[in-house]
Order: sequence, then structure tokens, then C-alpha cells
Amino acid sequence: MKCPRCKNEDPSWFYKGSKGWYCRRCISFSRVLIEEEMKPIELEEIREGSEEYVLAYPLSEAQERIGRECAQYSKTSDILLCCCCGSGKTEMTVYTIAEALKMKQRICFAISRRQVVLELAQRLQEIFPEADVIAVCGGHTDRLQADLIVCTAHQLYRYFQVFDILILDEPDAFPFKGNPVLHAIADTSCKGHKIYLTATPDAVLRQRVLDKEMLCLTLNQRPHGHPLPVPAVRIGPTVYLFVSMILWILRHREHPRMIFVPTIAKANAMGRILKVLFHGYVCTSKTADRDEVIQKFRSEKAGLIVATTVLERGVTIPGVDVCVWEADSPVFDEASLIQMSGRVGRTFHKPDGDCLFLLKQKSLLAERCVRKLKEANRSCDA
Ligand SMILES: [Zn+2]
Repeated sequence: MKCPRCKNEDPSWFYKGSKGWYCRRCISFSRVLIEEEMKPIELEEIREGSEEYVLAYPLSEAQERIGRECAQYSKTSDILLCCCCGSGKTEMTVYTIAEALKMKQRICFAISRRQVVLELAQRLQEIFPEADVIAVCGGHTDRLQADLIVCTAHQLYRYFQVFDILILDEPDAFPFKGNPVLHAIADTSCKGHKIYLTATPDAVLRQRVLDKEMLCLTLNQRPHGHPLPVPAVRIGPTVYLFVSMILWILRHREHPRMIFVPTIAKANAMGRILKVLFHGYVCTSKTADRDEVIQKFRSEKAGLIVATTVLERGVTIPGVDVCVWEADSPVFDEASLIQMSGRVGRTFHKPDGDCLFLLKQKSLLAERCVRKLKEANRSCDA
């Protein structure tokens, strides 16, 4: 037996109900009977002219080159678009999307966070004014078809063998990270090729490139051409780190500042301590009005926010400086460290900024993160 959706073949996941055998491995997405033939949903033809695009800013030379290569090679191969934080990965997929629409192919952009789905759908609608672009995510599932679909990873189960091109944003992060069911559902939704967008590919993706199962396109330069921020590292006991952090907050008082901490408990505790001295916010996965908190922080010229890794990706705050408290904590992996430092210097107007890692003891991961960023910068100079 094999589940037609998540490809599970492990018998312990199969149960027999009144209507027949079904798979419990992917049951959270809806019940799928094993005998049931999954059918692609009926989709309307893609409209003429939907491939016309308008870019607010021209792409940089490097973005243009990688974007063209991606459009060309994704016709015949899966692609790992391994591009540094803030390199404009979305913009680089514009040619691929345009070519697919022109050939009346189905294309989908799958992202982890609902808020980002809504934002990206709007951005893509502005880029492709003639196309019908929809966001499919919690609260927006009445309509499933359009010329261009932007959805959360969890909505992919609605599409069976539909996409000629599936773009997966941040496949190494939540909810894809360590989630084989979701990866299988993504595979099932796509009959053509996939494009993985990430600055920090995990071991599985890297291995697939080594095995020549997919092609890797790399870009280590941001559109504004400034180097990636390399974190300064301070190591010492908690008191020393705390004083360093306070001085850092004061030194950068004219900019927005993000302080990343390893756990929710530490975020709340740090928020309480800092409140005595500064006005600021706390944001964790338990923050109920998270989008509102981010919006408030964003609206302040020099705000302060304490956050967990919940904000390590998908957030662009112009001119932000970043401090990572206990960067040696096992909670942070190398990808987290690179992503957190990658919040700095992302925009044309504020292409530089400061990043500080505070460690209780030496950490190989932090060292590797610093080395990788330096290497990426050197590869651009060459
Ligand atoms: Zn299944």
C-alpha cells in the first residue's frame, strides 16, 4: 500500500475505516483513502498577457544573470537558488514566472508564514499587473485557482500534480524543516520542477546538489553591492555580556535594534529587564498580536525589540542593527546565526549596519558563521 498523497508505505500508518483504508501520516490535511484516485483540480486556462511584468527597480547585473539562468535551467532540472540574505531572491524568480506564464504553465510560490504569503501575493500582483494572482492560506481558501498562486506550505495538499514549477521559499526552515510529510506533499503537488530558495541550504539539499539531482545557482552579493555584515564576537561571563549589550544598545540608539535570544522565557525575562532602562517590544511565537508588534517596532525610527528565532527570517527593517544574546546556545544552528545577521543592511538606503554576537563560551558554529560570511564577501571581490 502507498498513500497517494504523502507517499507513505509504512503499514503502521494505515488504518481501515468504514470507507476503506486510509493514511494517518498525513491525516491532518484531510482523510485520503488509499483506493481513492487523486485528481488534479480543474483549472482555467492562463490568460493572455499575464506574463507582462513591471519591476520597480531594475535588477542588478548579478541578479539579472542568475534570474535568467534560473528561468532557463528550471525547464529541465530542479534548482537550488542559494543566495545570501537580502540578495533579492523573489526578484530573481521574475523571469522564471514570466516564461512559465507565457507558456501557459502552472506556477506556485509556497512560503511558510501566512503574513508573508499575503505580502508576496500583493507584491507579485504589482509586478505582474495583467495576471490574476491569489493568496491561498488560512482564511483565504475559497478560491484555489488563478494564473499565479502564492500559498502557505500547508495548503499545497489542495493541489495534486498541478504545478509545472513550484518555488519553495526557505525549505530548510519551519515548517519544512524535519517534516518529510510536508516535503512529500510538495513533491506530489508538482509535476514539473522545483526551485528551492534559501541562503542556508540544509544537508539534504546540499547532498542533492552533490548527487547532481539538481543544479545550484549561487549569488553572494546584495543588489546594492555592499558586503554582508560580519558579526563582531564577544565572549565572557553573563555580567560582561550584559554590560556589552547595554553599551551596544546605547551606541546604536539612533537605529532600530533587534536583540535575538534563544528561548521564549529568556525573551520575556530580557524584555522585563530592559524595560527598566528602555522603551521596547518583545516578540516570540507566543506573542498573540505578533504582526501588530512588528508593525509598531517598524514604525519607530529607533525602536528596540527582543525576539526569538521567530523573526530570524522574512523580516526586513531598514537600518536595523542586530545583537544575538548567547549566540553559543544550542538552540541556534548555523543557519539561524546566518539568518539573524542577515537582517542587517538589506536596503538600498541603509546598506550597512552592525551585528554583535555575545557568547558565554567559544562556539564552533559561531566561528563557522563568521567564516562563511567572510568567504561570501571575498567571493564577490574576486
Ligand atoms: Zn499519507
